[in-house]
Amino acid sequence: MSLQIIDTHCHLYSKEFSGDIDAVISRAEAEGVTRFYLPAVDSESHDAMLQLESKYPGKCISMMGVHPCSIQADYEKELQLAEDWLSKRPFAAVGEIGLDYYWDRTFDKEQKIAFNRQIEWALHYDLPIVIHSRDSMDDSIEIVKQHQNGKLKGIFHCFGGSYELARKVMDLGFYLGIGGVLTYKKSGLDETLSQVPLEHIVLETDAPYLAPVPFRGKRNESSYLKYVVDKLAEVKNCSREEIASITTANAQKIFGS
Ligand SMILES: [Zn+2]
Repeated sequence: MSLQIIDTHCHLYSKEFSGDIDAVISRAEAEGVTRFYLPAVDSESHDAMLQLESKYPGKCISMMGVHPCSIQADYEKELQLAEDWLSKRPFAAVGEIGLDYYWDRTFDKEQKIAFNRQIEWALHYDLPIVIHSRDSMDDSIEIVKQHQNGKLKGIFHCFGGSYELARKVMDLGFYLGIGGVLTYKKSGLDETLSQVPLEHIVLETDAPYLAPVPFRGKRNESSYLKYVVDKLAEVKNCSREEIASITTANAQKIFGS
C-alpha cells in the first residue's frame, strides 16, 4: 500500500483551501499523492499560486497561462502578464489554456487567438500544454493539430468524450486527464476508457471542483484521487498499483521530472 500518484491538475491555491491547506496536503500525501500541478487561471490568482508553490517546493508546481474563461475584452493585458512570467522563470507547463464555448460565446475569436498564441509560447519554451476544452473539442483538436510539429505535448484536461474523440487526442500524441467524472453514473467515461490504453491517461482532481463519488457536489481535494484510481482499476481490470505506476510515469514524461 505505498502507491505513488500525481495530481496533474488541482487549484489548491483557491480560497476554498485557505483555511486548511496543510491538512489537505498531508491527507493527499497519506494517500500517496507526491506531486500537485497547479494550473494558472489569470493574473488574479498568480500570487496565491506562487505562494503555495514556495511553501511546498518540489511538491506544488506551477504552470502559467490564461484560462479561456478569462479571455475577455482585456485579454491582451492578461496574455502580456502571463508571457512576462514565462520569460522570467521556469514553469511546468503552459496552462490552463484552450476554448470554452459553454459559458459564453462573446469572445470566441479572442479565445482562439489566445489559444494559438499560448501554444506558440509552449513551443518556444519547450513546455507541455494543459488544455481546457468545453463544448469545443473539434476546434481545440484542430488548433492543436495545426501546431503539432512532433514536439508539442500535453494533456486534454477533464476529458469527457467518446472513444472517437479519445482516439483523436491519442493520435495527436496527447494525454487524457481523468478525474472525478469517471465515477459519475451515466458519464459514459468508463466505457470510453475501457478502450483507451493506460499509456494515454493521467490522473487529476481539478480540485476544488468535480469531486468523485462519494463526495460528488462537495469540495474536491487531492486525497480523493484514490476513488478515481479505484474506479479506473475496475474499468481497466488491473491493480491499483498498475494504475498508479503507469499514470505516474506518463505524468513524468509530460512534465519532464
Ligand atoms: Zn482547472
